This record gives sequence, C-alpha cells and structure tokens, in this order.
Amino acid sequence: MGLLARWATSAWAACREAVFPPRCLECAEFLPPAPAEGLPAASAAADVLRLLGLHFCSGCLQGVIRMGHPLCPGCGVMFKGGVGEDHLCGRCLETPPPFHMARAAFVYGQSLVDVIHCFKYKGKTQLARPLGVLLFEAFERYWGRAPVDMVLPVPLHRRRLKERGFNQALLLVRRWPLRPGMPKVPVDTHVLWRARATAPQAGLGRRGRQANIAGAFALRHPERVAGRHILLVDDVITTGATAGECARLLLENGAARVDVLALARVI
Ligand SMILES: [Zn+2]
Ligand SMILES: [Zn+2]
Repeated sequence: MGLLARWATSAWAACREAVFPPRCLECAEFLPPAPAEGLPAASAAADVLRLLGLHFCSGCLQGVIRMGHPLCPGCGVMFKGGVGEDHLCGRCLETPPPFHMARAAFVYGQSLVDVIHCFKYKGKTQLARPLGVLLFEAFERYWGRAPVDMVLPVPLHRRRLKERGFNQALLLVRRWPLRPGMPKVPVDTHVLWRARATAPQAGLGRRGRQANIAGAFALRHPERVAGRHILLVDDVITTGATAGECARLLLENGAARVDVLALARVI
C-alpha cells in the first residue's frame, strides 16, 4: 500500500471512529480507544484482550478461560480442580476416540459462547482474524513446530453454507500461517465434504449426536489422504461426535494420523 493510501485509510478509520465510536458487539458498551501498540501479551488474559478487545468490552471477555492442565491427552477435556498430571479420562479409557488427540484453545463457557455466537450467527466475520490468531497460538502450543500435512476445516452441508454464507472453521484457518518464515500450512477444502444434511446436534445426547452424524461426510479423491497426518479444525467441540466421524472416515481411507483442534471445548 502506498503512503498516501495508508494515510487515507487511517484518516478514514479515525473519522469513522469519531462519528461511530466502536461498541462492544455483545453488550453495546462503548469501547475505550485501542492503545497504539496493543496490550503487552504478558498473560493469557492480556492476549485475549489484545486480540478481542477491539470488538468486545473487558467485562464481556472476563469469563474467557484458556484450556489448561490437567487434561485428557486423548480428547483434550480439562479436569476441574486444576491439580495433578494429565491422564486419560474415563470416556477415552472406555472407548478410545478415533482421532489421535484433540485440543481446544478455550473452555466453551458463557463468554466464549457469546463471542462465537456473534461470529457464527450474527455474521461478524471481522472476528475471524483475532479468533484465527488465538486458534493458531493454540496450534503452536500443542503441536509445536511439528508439521501436519493437511488442515481440513470441518465442512458444512451446502445448504447450511448457503444460509450462513461462510464456513466458520475455514475462516479461522484461512489466514494461517500467521508468523513470517513459518512453513505454509496447507488448508484443503475439497477432499472432505458433507454429503448429508443433518438435524442440529444441539439438544441431543452423546449417542444421539453420534447417530445423527453417522455417514454425514464423504471424501473426494480419498487417495489424497492416504499416509497423511491430518489436522481437523472446528469452532467448537461438544462431545467430539462430529470430529470423531470425520476422523473415522479419514482413517478408514488410509490417513496416517488425525488430530483435532477447536477454538473451544465443552468440559
Ligand atoms: Zn460488552
Ligand atoms: Zn478423554
């Protein structure tokens, strides 16, 4: 961008802010002006505020809880109480999930329900960038620099996609990688697709969710997943039924390993 264009963009932003000061997307409270350098990311809370504070007030972000330890190394559920080592949860011991590991950036508590609701159902797609950064930070935290061969956003059925206008999981990973010099993370939106529309999962129990989602996905060019290490990405993991169904299909078709990453997880 040229100097003049950059000046015009920031002048326009300043005018717009003077006339329409930004308000919290959730409670409509006026937001304080953003500090030029942003908040120092000294803590997890500062990180969230730095990234989401342009869109939400600090009160509405207060309940955002980062996923911590101890957690289940399989499904990624965090154990309440915060003491002890990581260990497999009862569910993973009883029925190991098809994926190798699932992790989420945050606990799906009320604050995050509201944030994701704004993004997904109120069409506030400007949240894709900050939420994508937070998701990428969780990816780096849990996977380190270990490369994955393919990132697959969990697909929506075409009817749902038409209604919503975007796939929230794809918007979260579309701008990856976010660090200069990092290898490009290959996002594929073609191989995995939703062959069958399903009733909403909300309100269904674990078994109901599994039955509802069974056979909902299909693969184009299954040979492309053979031998690959795949990262499935979704916005929210509730019981893991959707991710489990995708993972099962990918592994049946020869994927070497399937991991799951979500923005938030129900605990
Ligand atoms: Zn607010
Ligand atoms: Zn588990």
